[in-house]
Amino acid sequence: MSTLPQERRVVTAIPGPKSQELQSRRTASVAAGVGSVMPVFAARADGGIVEDVDGNRFIDFGSGIAVTTVGASAEAVVRRASAQLADFTHTCFMVTPYEGYVEVAEQLAELTPGDHAKKSALFNSGAEAVENAVKIARAYTKRTAVVVFDHGYHGRTNLTMALTSKNMPYKQGFGPFAPEVYRVPVAYGYRWPTGAENAGAEASAQAIDQINKQVGAENVAAIIIEPVLGEGGFIEPAKGFLPAIRQFASDNGIVFVADEIQSGFCRTGQWFACEDEGIVPDLITTAKGIAGGLPLSAVTGRAEIMDAAHSGGLGGTYGGNPVACAGALGAIETMRELDLNAKAKRIEEVMKPRLTAMQEKFDIIGDVRGRGAMIAIELVKSGTKEPNPEATAQIAKACHTEGVLVLTTGTYGNVVRFLPPLVIGEELLTDGLDVLEAAFAAL
Ligand SMILES: *Cc1c(COP(=O)(O)O)cnc(C)c1O
Repeated sequence: MSTLPQERRVVTAIPGPKSQELQSRRTASVAAGVGSVMPVFAARADGGIVEDVDGNRFIDFGSGIAVTTVGASAEAVVRRASAQLADFTHTCFMVTPYEGYVEVAEQLAELTPGDHAKKSALFNSGAEAVENAVKIARAYTKRTAVVVFDHGYHGRTNLTMALTSKNMPYKQGFGPFAPEVYRVPVAYGYRWPTGAENAGAEASAQAIDQINKQVGAENVAAIIIEPVLGEGGFIEPAKGFLPAIRQFASDNGIVFVADEIQSGFCRTGQWFACEDEGIVPDLITTAKGIAGGLPLSAVTGRAEIMDAAHSGGLGGTYGGNPVACAGALGAIETMRELDLNAKAKRIEEVMKPRLTAMQEKFDIIGDVRGRGAMIAIELVKSGTKEPNPEATAQIAKACHTEGVLVLTTGTYGNVVRFLPPLVIGEELLTDGLDVLEAAFAAL
């Protein structure tokens, strides 16, 4: 554990002079296509704080996009990864395997929903896990079509761009995209035309009808859905939607894939968000929170599905890197020991009432939603449901200037999302919310 004080502190203009200097080096040497939320450069991070090179300390409401769930320098992650680093950095699991990989697979079998026999394959990034879930589902079903949902996000590689709903910035100019991908409606309660209470039943009926009529259920290898849609705007599919789609998949021999890359590993107050509606996926993709910041991802699922791909058909040079596996074992140990599911629920208890109170005061807050430490507000133009991306950008900027790192998201760019590390202190949480409220008051 580093000794970083858990206190917000702004000592320079944002960005400060050292960050500005790095920013000009960056502009000269780093491709323009790689963007950043904030123009400050990190020096240290721990608990609920990211400190920049000028000594400013930001309250971290982003966790590096839902990655540092256990903090950015969690003791068990650092200890285990450092020990592994000293032993060996790499042998390639496909050349000479090692225990850490097997242990991570065992942990995944234990933690993911369902008590059927499970197996896993490990990779480096979320997109790679999703791609491999599709490969596995196709090998198992001997079918080709893949069904995804409006507002879904699954990555930036060619196949996962095709699976992703939003054009700008993820897809614009990068096509042609992989074929045999079909997109159907999702139960977005806040924007469902006949109201949130009808969204679950109506959206699932529409989605199923479209699959039957436009694709043919017998052609579908996989249905892939985020149990809480992340980049789409923290959309919790309205009650009943996920069970109906899960049932449809079962009835038609379709592999149901829960993409829990953002929502998994205690983020929503459960090990996996699909547990809230008792969903047992056939395959589950994980990444982000899995390894305390080290790059690791996984596909976990029913043994007979996972074993459908022939030997040598899955893998990759770095997949399940030993240092990343050690990090994952440290992260999982931390989640268990600190009961981070309970922490996530406590974060919701602190944040939701504050945000709901703000919604009553500021009519541009159209919706407050999310679970655990995956909470968002959707901003609209006063008295309408028209998206308000301008105010969203202004609020984010105001928070950044005051030392609170928030992220925006959503198909319409009008969602402020909160993804604090689950180890964040309650004073930081409250201080961050005070800054947010002041930003609304000043708008
Ligand atoms: C981030 C994310 C991905 C892609 O993960 P990368 O590690 O960025 O490739 C896929 N699915 C979901 C739900 C995500 O949030």
